[in-house]
Amino acid sequence: MLSKILVVEDSRAFRKYLNIQLSQAGFQVIFAESITQAREILSKESDFLCSVLDYCLPDGHDGEIIEHVLSYGVQAIILTAHFSDNIREKVLSKGVIDYLLKDSASSVSYLIPLLQRLQENSRHKALVVEDSVTVRSHLIHLLTRQNLQVIAAENGEQAIQLLQQHPDISLIITDHDMPKKDGITMIREIRRKFDRNQLAILGLSGSSDRSMTARFLKAGANDFLYKPFNQEELYCRIHHILNMKDTSDKLYKMANQDALTGLWNRRYFFSQQSNTRSDEDKSIAMLDIDFFKKVNDNYGHDGGDTVLVAISQQLQAHFSDAIVARFGGEEFCIQSNGDRAIFVPKLELMRHKIEQLTMKYNDEEIKITVSIGISVGNKPIDEMLSEADAHLYKAKANGRNQVIYQ
Ligand code: GH3
Ligand code: MG
Ligand code: MG
Ligand code: MG
Repeated sequence: MLSKILVVEDSRAFRKYLNIQLSQAGFQVIFAESITQAREILSKESDFLCSVLDYCLPDGHDGEIIEHVLSYGVQAIILTAHFSDNIREKVLSKGVIDYLLKDSASSVSYLIPLLQRLQENSRHKALVVEDSVTVRSHLIHLLTRQNLQVIAAENGEQAIQLLQQHPDISLIITDHDMPKKDGITMIREIRRKFDRNQLAILGLSGSSDRSMTARFLKAGANDFLYKPFNQEELYCRIHHILNMKDTSDKLYKMANQDALTGLWNRRYFFSQQSNTRSDEDKSIAMLDIDFFKKVNDNYGHDGGDTVLVAISQQLQAHFSDAIVARFGGEEFCIQSNGDRAIFVPKLELMRHKIEQLTMKYNDEEIKITVSIGISVGNKPIDEMLSEADAHLYKAKANGRNQVIYQ
């Protein structure tokens, strides 16, 4: 993710202030004091997340810097010491992201979340659903400027198809009145599969019907905006719903992922059972690290953690298409589709790979082995886990470092 910010500002005091604030927030800041200096920098590097530009500079008093910076394909946020409707109109019409009043104490506290939003936006894919070519291209333009990945559909029907082809879409911006399928009908369909936290939807409509807001929200939109809208309104709504989505994604991860290894946790494993088909066989493997207590005793708890992370990476690499969970301590569970003829050799391969593996911890080299118990079939999950556990116990009793399936 880009984290480099170009700041063009002639006041030394304000430069210093911005430097402290932006650096603390984790941004890398490059400074210029004039248009000339900014051009020199931009001719060498233009991979900036965004620029922060003083409206009035020694070699351009009236926002001339904006065109210069935009011509290098770098986005811009403007700082102005004075504010008027005239300046606002002028600045926004040039195609900048936003403008802030320089002398207000809150301007920097607004700037940093705005830059962080731009940074996070690159991870989001937005789908614009709009039948009007003009509005559609205007929206694509505005969203691309926000660092979002953007794709577009002409109606609700096409949008549903695109959503199937692009399961990573996280935001939909949709009109209502469209041929083939209208926005509200489309939202209702989408909501049967994806809730408000999984997929954010912003409704738009040019209708004069004042009940539109309620109709969109009740159908499942996260927010709604009447057309015509201005850039600031649209950006504020989008920032708000994406901030909510990112927070909810973070909470979901915290609740379902193991913090040390990044694997799913036990809770997630059991929550997924309702999604697995009951008419198909499944394969379950319980894996436990052999003599792990000795690793902790010899190398300390941190050494033990290094081993847990390395083993988790092996599990993920070998079973990328399965549910891999850390059940607790040094015990892991893999759930895959039920074909023992494929599952057992894959586990054997991984067991062997782990046996060969040398894990580096400080100046030491750690080697370990794992024992694995398997259950394959179409029984209730609790029974399959007990069976896999019994086989794991057998593997331990048999001398460890082996896969047991009967
Ligand atoms: P066996 O071959 O029979 O499985 O022996 P073992 O020593 O691996 O098994 P045991 O269950 O006796 O010990 C597991 C140890 O794992 C005990 C516990 O302190 C350690 N452990 C559990 N969670 C963590 C963790 O998150 N980090 C570290 N470093 N150690 C952990
Ligand atoms: Mg329309
Ligand atoms: Mg163990
Ligand atoms: Mg154990």
